[in-house]
Amino acid sequence: MKKLVIASGNAGKVREFKEILKDWEITSMKEEGVFAEVDETGVTFEENAEIKARALADRLKTAGIDAIAIADDSGMEVDAFDGGPGVYSARYLGEKTPYEEKNRIILEKLIDVPEEKRGARYVCAIAAAWPDGRINVAQAVCNGKIAHKSTGTGGFGYDPIFVVPEYSRSMAELTADEKNQISHRGKALEKMMKILEEESMNEKKNFGE
Ligand code: IMP
Repeated sequence: MKKLVIASGNAGKVREFKEILKDWEITSMKEEGVFAEVDETGVTFEENAEIKARALADRLKTAGIDAIAIADDSGMEVDAFDGGPGVYSARYLGEKTPYEEKNRIILEKLIDVPEEKRGARYVCAIAAAWPDGRINVAQAVCNGKIAHKSTGTGGFGYDPIFVVPEYSRSMAELTADEKNQISHRGKALEKMMKILEEESMNEKKNFGE
């Protein structure tokens, strides 16, 4: 089984990848000492995930590291914002603005929006770039609602204002296991894990192992 290197500097994300892909050897760019900073120029989550995975695969190749580059692109789509901030979720209201502040502003903007119009979803696309140029992409969604107030301290980003209907709690109030089971990233990773297992099996067959 090849090693997977995660193309993210976000410690919260890397932790979730490691929790979910328990059976794989996983490292981060930081741990490998390899850095691939790219502009997210895509207009879809899938495009951005692929751009990031390809960039890291190139760096890994140059550094002589035989591994699969894994990248995700994710974000929150809010119905009342016509699907925004979407692919701009990280940059929305300023890349450096603390999420406490971003979440406060979002709640303020939605103050008069009734319950039935507070729909939102997290979307996550994951791309795997193999050393031989192969690319796999998987995408998944987690449906929810924007809360009326911020609650909980778990997760990261918009989690304190994202209510999950299954639990009637915010994503930030769930345990890591609960979040991973229903989250966009958890579900996209499940899909990707199956794809990677199939690809690895085909590789073994082709090499007659
Ligand atoms: P990316 O790093 O370009 O994929 O940006 C993802 C951004 O989407 C994060 O910085 C958050 O703003 C938001 N986001 C994605 N997934 C989550 C999540 O699970 N919880 C909270 N916010 C998330």
